[in-house]
Amino acid sequence: MTTPTSETAAQAPHSGPESPATSLPLPVLDQPEASAVEYERFLDCVHCGLCTSSCPTYLELGTEMDSPRGRIHLMRAVTDGRLPLDNDVKRHLDLCLDCRSCETACPSGVQYGRIIEPFRLAMEKQSPAPKSRDWFHRWILFGILADATRTRWALAPVRLMQWLGLDRLLDRSGLVRFLPGKLQRMHRMLPRLEPRGPELPERLAAIGPKRATVALSTGCVADAVFHHVHWATIRVLRENGCDVLIPRSQTCCGAIHFHAGAEEPAIERAKTNLAAFPLEELDAVIVNVAGCGAMLKEYGHLPVNAATKERLQLFASKVRDIHEFLVDLGPIAPKGELNWRVAYHDACHLCHAQKITEQPRELLRLIPGLELVAHEEPTICCGAAGSYNLVEAEMAERLVARKADHLLAVEPDAIAIPNAGCLLHMGRRIREEVDGEHAAPWMGHPIELLDRSYQASSSP
Ligand code: SF4
Ligand code: SF4
Repeated sequence: MTTPTSETAAQAPHSGPESPATSLPLPVLDQPEASAVEYERFLDCVHCGLCTSSCPTYLELGTEMDSPRGRIHLMRAVTDGRLPLDNDVKRHLDLCLDCRSCETACPSGVQYGRIIEPFRLAMEKQSPAPKSRDWFHRWILFGILADATRTRWALAPVRLMQWLGLDRLLDRSGLVRFLPGKLQRMHRMLPRLEPRGPELPERLAAIGPKRATVALSTGCVADAVFHHVHWATIRVLRENGCDVLIPRSQTCCGAIHFHAGAEEPAIERAKTNLAAFPLEELDAVIVNVAGCGAMLKEYGHLPVNAATKERLQLFASKVRDIHEFLVDLGPIAPKGELNWRVAYHDACHLCHAQKITEQPRELLRLIPGLELVAHEEPTICCGAAGSYNLVEAEMAERLVARKADHLLAVEPDAIAIPNAGCLLHMGRRIREEVDGEHAAPWMGHPIELLDRSYQASSSP
């Protein structure tokens, strides 16, 4: 494929009506109900190229079509009918991590996510072999991982094997290599599972004077693998004067489906969550996973009827990332010392999609003794990107290697990571990289560090 200059991209004629002012269904689609890209969003891009150096795939490949500007050009050309949506075009779009780093870098305010996401939904709807219907999406991603209970059951034998030490025997036996590639990667990604701890109650009262009433969104994979992070989050919220509700009937946020192009199941999950959370009673819906937070904040944009949309907009308006919420509330400083050098990883769906960069750092700096150390390229994606690391393994590996090098170069005692997917993906790479040389740094959620400090100061 030839690489268009910014000139050709800017001057490309539009084959439909002159610069249409409303949403256009993509011409590659027959279905009238198909998702649409609002055409004005293409026009926001002035082809300056200031976003390219912030794009992980461009940094790795150096090709225009694997940059934000190139991808916007491709999507607009397909929408205009000037370019067929062939495998070459799809490949460049599939390689995009939807990390939204380009949005942060763009001086023209291009909302890249609002272009690529509906475009991908449209591609999925018109595809003769939709990705969302392959065995991995149907049985593993949607069938197990998007359901906390099923993931918990699926992990039960893993816990037992880890406890008995049989997981290492399995690794040494080489049997794992007979699994399909994606399942091998999932196996390698699993950390040593923490003891699950008691089930979350439905409500816990604030410690000290009450300052707010909040509900915790527990999600799916996060609840099954990082249940201890939910407990840490609840303890920290209570220490900060919050009554915490944990609605039983809540479900996965729908991001796994939505980002794989399966819009209907995502909408169903949004409606279930809408019914589960008593919004009128709440000051905030708290999320401790960056990817889920970004999805929940987008609920108001889902294509539903007007009455449901209004309620979803109210839901979205109450969603707060845990760091964002605590800083806005005014955090009560923890007193327990933690004499660690800590590197903080900016998860894309926190720093780019939600524009939250300072709040986690501000909270970590409150911990007595903790030294926050900076590393190179803190806001470049680690390659986890939801299920990207499983379906685009080669690029994901290049990016996580780059990230691990930068992080390990500053020799941290701990790496604080505010997103379950990044934690699994980077955790695996870093464990493998330091294997045998010296101990891997502690890796966990920033809120766990804050919790440790609160717990230490309240210990007798
Ligand atoms: S920085 Fe913004 S306007 Fe410039 S090329 Fe990138 S997306 Fe387009
Ligand atoms: S979302 Fe990320 S990977 Fe995709 S074009 Fe933007 S910066 Fe590049």
